Amino acid sequence: MTPILNKLIFGFTFFRERYFSERKDLYRRLVREGQKPKVVMIACADSRVDPAIVLQTDPGDVFAIRNVANLVPPYEEDENGEISYHGTSAALEFAVEQLGVEHVVVFGHAHCSGVKAMIHGQEGNKVAGRFVGAWTSIVDKAYEHAKAADPHIEGEDLDRACERHAVLVSLDNLMTFPFIRERVEAGTLQIHGWYLDIAEGELSSYDANEKRFTPLM
Ligand SMILES: [Zn+2]
Repeated sequence: MTPILNKLIFGFTFFRERYFSERKDLYRRLVREGQKPKVVMIACADSRVDPAIVLQTDPGDVFAIRNVANLVPPYEEDENGEISYHGTSAALEFAVEQLGVEHVVVFGHAHCSGVKAMIHGQEGNKVAGRFVGAWTSIVDKAYEHAKAADPHIEGEDLDRACERHAVLVSLDNLMTFPFIRERVEAGTLQIHGWYLDIAEGELSSYDANEKRFTPLM
């Protein structure tokens, strides 16, 4: 067994003896009654931004969708109204329609490789891989928005601005899903854009009135 797999297996042993054994009643209730999370989060697959660790959640708290660059695609049917493989959309539909979550949080973060890939593509470069470029092009508009706000922005500042604008594009895309729009307009669902600075350990939230991200604590 390689050291990293040993680490994972030791981790499970530790989890079972401590965390799990201390919360057996909670796990039994979650199995008996089913999960009823109040929050669905769209977080990046990045190994540094696990919402359960960063937000110290308990089982049953958060329905987590993780993908490259924490993106929400627009509502999309394929030709002839067919539906193909829309993983993030399927998870959103399940969380909102079946689980009845009350909040959707798009959980953006600094130093995101997925957003960097989008920037790379927008600057005329070929993005490595077959799938990443197509996927991250969902937030191409984030680049345009960052440049429109400051035509001279570049480097790290551009990266950070695009990461934040990408969260806003995903918030707009959330509202293209009829089952989300209906609930937001009825006041039974709230959508939020959060941004985690993993270098500084700071969390901020998009304030629609001030049109900027402000610290959550
Ligand atoms: Zn990322």
